[in-house]
Amino acid sequence: MLSSPISWVVGIPEQFDQIRQQLPTGVRLIAVSKQFPAQAIREAYEAGLRDFGENRIQEAQAKIPQLADLDGVTWHLIGSLQRNKVRPALECFDWIHSVDSLELAERISALIPQVGRRPKLLLQVKLAEDPTKSGWSEAELEEALPALAGLSDLDIRGLMAIAPFGQSAEETADLFKRVKQLALKIAHRAGLSGWERIRMEELSMGMSGDYPLAVQAGTTMVRLGQALFGSRPLQRRMTNE
Ligand SMILES: *Cc1c(COP(=O)(O)O)cnc(C)c1O
Repeated sequence: MLSSPISWVVGIPEQFDQIRQQLPTGVRLIAVSKQFPAQAIREAYEAGLRDFGENRIQEAQAKIPQLADLDGVTWHLIGSLQRNKVRPALECFDWIHSVDSLELAERISALIPQVGRRPKLLLQVKLAEDPTKSGWSEAELEEALPALAGLSDLDIRGLMAIAPFGQSAEETADLFKRVKQLALKIAHRAGLSGWERIRMEELSMGMSGDYPLAVQAGTTMVRLGQALFGSRPLQRRMTNE
């Protein structure tokens, strides 16, 4: 008798259904699969998920080839990207959510023709004090926009934000609203200036702990790890010790 494979992720189909029902149509659910093995992604795929988020290049490089047989998967880089990892990032990912400096944008623009892939980009903003996260302040981004608009080959689609850990729900809701306002402001300016490579159609906001607030603020993408997969293996190991 064949033994059934060990399931990494119990309850993904149920969690997925529940979350899907809470999300308006048009909000893209990105399953954050960091620290979970390829097999967990395969199970999530079987449950119907198609968008997966990873935060480390090396981990993605190891997992993505194991899943090459899955049709129609979209890979999202959600973790910060170092300049020396841009080439593999372009090779692996369809979306990069973490463009957080002009230097990084310039590097991406320079390597796109060489690599021959053009992922969609989001600009990571930081509208609240958070020493643990990178991202543009509103003033920095406003200042960088003309230079960003001049970089050929970039396909900028919107903004990404992470709420600082430990904020109140009110503060987080306010933060998400300000990100949305900033996107509208940039879209307006891009329209007036004829910046065709800067579009503001997408917002990537909301994680397991705060995604309903992001949905209320009008996000178009949520990045959910634990709400779908349960606690991450590293954390599991720590709690089991
Ligand atoms: C890990 C991570 C997530 C998912 O976090 P959960 O709390 O597991 O939903 C979302 N966005 C980013 C940038 C992350 O690093």
